Amino acid sequence: MNSPEPGGVPVTVKDLRRTFGSGPENRITAVDGVHLDIAAGESVALTGPSGSGKSTLLHLIGAVERADAGVIRVGDEEITALGRRELARYRGRIGFVFQRFHLLPALTALDNVLAPLLPRRRADTPFDRVERATGLLAAVGLAGREKALPSQLSGGQQQRVAIARALIAGPRLLLADEPTGNLDSATGTRVMDLIERLAAEHGCTLLIATHEEAVAGRCSRVLTLRDGQLVADVRTGRDEPAATSHLDTDPDKER
Ligand code: ADP
Ligand code: MG
Repeated sequence: MNSPEPGGVPVTVKDLRRTFGSGPENRITAVDGVHLDIAAGESVALTGPSGSGKSTLLHLIGAVERADAGVIRVGDEEITALGRRELARYRGRIGFVFQRFHLLPALTALDNVLAPLLPRRRADTPFDRVERATGLLAAVGLAGREKALPSQLSGGQQQRVAIARALIAGPRLLLADEPTGNLDSATGTRVMDLIERLAAEHGCTLLIATHEEAVAGRCSRVLTLRDGQLVADVRTGRDEPAATSHLDTDPDKER
């Protein structure tokens, strides 16, 4: 997953299940037998009403939560078979953007971007890390705000810090859970532009949960969940999958 060529990693999900609650009355099957095949480099929107299981599915793929049953494969790794330490490493190699930003309030923008690297990659010199984080902050339009605390930044700026943080480890998979859900629509559009552009530039497969049609329509494929089940899978034609999976074998091809 750390190879430098663009295109991202494929994601395969087989008969995935996650149930919450105990006892027959308050038991909820949040993800109920989902099968899914996402090609390397695809940008996929995950839609569906509130409570349909979007966040749970993303959390399972991102290994934020464990599945009860089923298989998740990301690139050549079977996530559902990994042990605790391997899972921690996996989580550090993918990017996750949350609706509520989840920045650490006591850390500066720069340190938030660096946070995922701190316990790992001791071989990198600190200068390399700082340089990469500074470059990512510039890429999200926050050059000069490295020392700002989250409380000194607007919601859109905080989400842009979170996007830079999600990209710091060079992920081949970027997961985003309603990343524009807490932003006004103009800011949301800018944040979405950034996610799309940076996912393409950094060679990430993109899976983004949203209930905003404008966001979903920009992806190459739109999946719809209802009561934990996948009920629709539509190619928008916006970015033909044949062209994106092509990137897998032809790293020099312009996206
Ligand atoms: P969405 O993101 O589409 O709104 P979620 O994945 O958050 O849906 O939730 C799917 C279902 O699982 C909902 O019924 C929700 O209440 C339930 N659920 C999600 N997380 C938990 C949890 N940690 N504990 C209990 N129920 C949960
Ligand atoms: Mg959700």
